[in-house]
This record gives sequence, C-alpha cells and structure tokens, in this order.
Amino acid sequence: MIKNIKGTKDLLPNATYNIQDIEQHLNTFMNIHGYGEIRTPIFESTELFSRSVGEHTDIVNKEMYTWEDQNGHSLTLRPEMTASVVRAYIQNKLWKQEPISKFFYIGPSFRRERPQKGRLRQFHQFGVEALGSQYPEQDAEVISMAYNIYNMFGLEDLSVKINSLGGKDIKSKYGKALQKSMVDFKDVFNEQEWVRLNNNPLRILDTKNKNLKKIINENAPNIFDFISIDDKKHFNKVTSILNSMNIPYEHDVKLVRGLDYYSRTVFELTSSELGAQDALCGGGRYDNLVAELGGANIPAIGFAAGMERLIIAMKLSNNDTINTDIYIINTEENYIEYTMTLADKLRKEVGIAVHTDTLRRSIKSQMRHANKMNAKYSIIINKEIFKSSKKLLIKNMSDNTQEEISEDEIVNFFQSE
Ligand code: AMP
Repeated sequence: MIKNIKGTKDLLPNATYNIQDIEQHLNTFMNIHGYGEIRTPIFESTELFSRSVGEHTDIVNKEMYTWEDQNGHSLTLRPEMTASVVRAYIQNKLWKQEPISKFFYIGPSFRRERPQKGRLRQFHQFGVEALGSQYPEQDAEVISMAYNIYNMFGLEDLSVKINSLGGKDIKSKYGKALQKSMVDFKDVFNEQEWVRLNNNPLRILDTKNKNLKKIINENAPNIFDFISIDDKKHFNKVTSILNSMNIPYEHDVKLVRGLDYYSRTVFELTSSELGAQDALCGGGRYDNLVAELGGANIPAIGFAAGMERLIIAMKLSNNDTINTDIYIINTEENYIEYTMTLADKLRKEVGIAVHTDTLRRSIKSQMRHANKMNAKYSIIINKEIFKSSKKLLIKNMSDNTQEEISEDEIVNFFQSE
C-alpha cells in the first residue's frame, strides 16, 4: 500500500468542514481591515529563500524541499510566504501603483522538520503583509489584527510578546556582544549550539537547553540597550497605540525571531493550550527586504500563523459533517430522473442543500441517512398520491409532521420556509 509522506496529512471532509469555516471568518476579517488576498506559486527559485530567510537559518540549512528541475534550475517548495509576497510585489512594481499594499494569504508551506504535535512537514499558514509604511501605527495595526483573529476564534490563553531588534546594523553589533558574553560558558553549549552562536548568534536566545537558558538570562546583553533613540521612539509609539486599543502584550527583550529579514518590531503570539510547539503566530518588520531583493526602499511588516495550531488551540472536534436541508427519498427506479431534476431545481431556485440517494437503498435506510445528515425536511414521492394528484409528501424531520404539497408549489413552499 502506498502511504502519505511522514509529516503530511489527508484532510477528510470532517476536517475540511472546520477549516472552511475558519477560512470564511478569516476572509471576512481581512476584508473589513482592507487586506486583499494574494496567491503566489507553491514553488520558487531556491535563491529567493536563501537570500531572504537567510543562509544560516535552520529553514535554509536543513529544512527546505529543494530539487533541480530538468534545466538544472534549483527550485524549492516554499517554507514560508513572506519572501514570495515580496518577490511578487517587486516583480509587479506595486509601489508605483499605490503607496501602500496590504495583503493576506492562506495556503500550504513546507519544511522538513521532525514531525510532532503541531509540527508538520506540510502545514498551512495564513498571514498578512503590509508594504509601504514605516510608521508605528502600521505595526500596531498588524499586531492588533493577529490578536483579534485569535480572539474572534475564542482563544483565551493568549500571550503576546513584542520586542525591537533595532535598525539595520543593530543585529550584527548585538550579535557580536552576545558572542563575547558567552565565551566563558563554552562548556554549557553543545556543538550545534556553539556553531549556531557563531553563525547566527541571535538564535541562541530561543534555546530550549535549560542550563544555557539560565546562563543567557544572567549574562547576555539586552538588545534594547543597543537600539537607537529613533528605534525606541518607534517601539514606544507601537506600545502606546496597543495600550489604547486594549491589546495586552509583554515586552520580551529576549524575543528575536528566527529569520534574517526582520528589523525593528518583532512579535509572537503563543497559547498555553499548545504544549511544546506553543507559537501560534510570529511576525515583524522587514524594512530592508524589498530593497535587498531588488525593489525600491520600501518598509514593511507582517505576520505568519499556523492553521493546524489554531485548530489544536480551538479544540475543534472533527465530528461535524456535511448537513443537508432537504433529503429527497427515491422510492422507485423510474422516478430517478424526476428526483434528480427536482433536486437541481430546488438547489438553483431556492438555494438550499438537497441530497438524493445514489445507492438505491430502501426507504427505511434512506430515512436513516436523512436523519444522520440532519435533514430539516424529506420529500417522499408516494406512487399513489403522485399519480393521482401530482402531490409530494413533505416530512418535517424535527416534529415528524407530514403534508402534501403540489409539485407546482414546492419551490414556493421552501422559499417561504
Ligand atoms: P515561523 O515563520 O517559523 O515563525 O512560522 C509562523 C507560524 O507558522 C508559527 O508560529 C506556527 O504557528 C506555524 N508553523 C511553523 N512551522 C510549522 C510546522 N512545521 N508545522 C506546523 N506549523 C508550523
């Protein structure tokens, strides 16, 4: 038997039912905030991710699905979507059309991580990207949207952490100071962590190693002491707007985020419902990325959120299934054309969900199925009644009452229900 690849999942109708509902809410939410949907290709040139996400990140180093196509072009399944959105923005020179572009996206991303609860190799992300504004109100808009989305879905144990990484050169200055502060503690590091400290020092702040965490807490410098006065002013304005919007947050000076392109504001939302993989969503400013990838000097901010983790935190059961409004019971083989046509007519003219049996089952078992599908009504074509008066039996499934309705009246009947 051929099985699916480890870390991927089949979503059966009882799961997609919940996802469709979430997506509908997200679409409406994004529309009322003025964000339009962008859909970019699932694969891109490998270089796009190595240049934007960063050569020394785990994603680029070991998690990308990369292959060479028949022309020797190195391609990669997207491990995240910001890079693709920025590429599309640059390619379409969108800053020439509008001073601000606001996008949202929903779709799959791919990372070859070790699968566990809330961590897959094909997972689904939704997110927003706002390109064009350098001002703190744009940061506050994006952070408040992330918070309000989880609020809309009823999540309670939310924690919002924010920090500033400062402008362009701060990360490298701070990184050097961080490396220096750790020199005396080399024996606490394992080999991989020591390599990380050398290649991508800020990542060491997210370590899960408890001993190292303690050393960092006691000895690492604070990035906030490195950022400029303008960076601090920017950060203070973001928090002042969040305060006025009643968005709760915590300033976490150790929050750095893994990808290279971030500058200034970074943030993350976590939920205690999630266990080890507790990040619901993360984001931040990437003021230099558009220029670095060949576009104009356009500041930007966004976030990416994991759909699977939202679903875990919402504790959705997968018991919901497709329901129907009307179940037409097929009583005779020679009524099949009639019931199929009637079903189509009701769907088109009344716009309701209609189900007909295609298994030629007994009336009793069709009735059972109608109940299982939570049908509000069933329509039964009783041979005698239908022949003599062209009337159909309509059964109200909740109170079991029945009435005879003439064929010409059926659309009117359901329209007024
Ligand atoms: P990141 O850009 O890595 O912070 O990812 C943004 C969000 O995507 C995270 O906060 C998670 O909710 C989700 N995410 C990232 N990687 C995975 C994964 N392997 N499986 C499931 N969700 C993920």
